[in-house]
Amino acid sequence: MKIKMKIKNEKEETETNPRVVSMNGVSGFWKHPRYENCWIYNGRMPTSNCWIYINDNDVQILNVMVYNPEDRKCGFGSQMISDIRLAFPQIHIWVDTWNCSRPFWQKMKLRGMINSIANDYSWPCANTTCTTCHEDRPDYSRRSRFD
Ligand SMILES: [Zn+2]
Repeated sequence: MKIKMKIKNEKEETETNPRVVSMNGVSGFWKHPRYENCWIYNGRMPTSNCWIYINDNDVQILNVMVYNPEDRKCGFGSQMISDIRLAFPQIHIWVDTWNCSRPFWQKMKLRGMINSIANDYSWPCANTTCTTCHEDRPDYSRRSRFD
């Protein structure tokens, strides 16, 4: 099954930037300048954005960002993911999750906003100050040298 997508250039957006399109009526998808099949969803900027990869049979969401720390856990992330669901109502949407983002994605899966979480193993995020992902790091020993 190939994904049949209605990618429609929105008139005014096309005039300013030919790479911005709407998908199934959800506007704000920007073609990634370098990556094939990759779109940046800016429909919720400046609060949040994310990337999606449109594959033959599925859509992957990645790089979900809610920019202002005060805006996190306020539902902005879920609103954005529900936009993506609206844009791809019949498509299998999946994510890879870090340990700290897994509870969010499990909630999204329960609500039907995504279809699956690809990784079931522990995957610490790149932010070494994230205590959810990095609580078991040997930070203690490193810190103790300076105590
Ligand atoms: Zn983390």
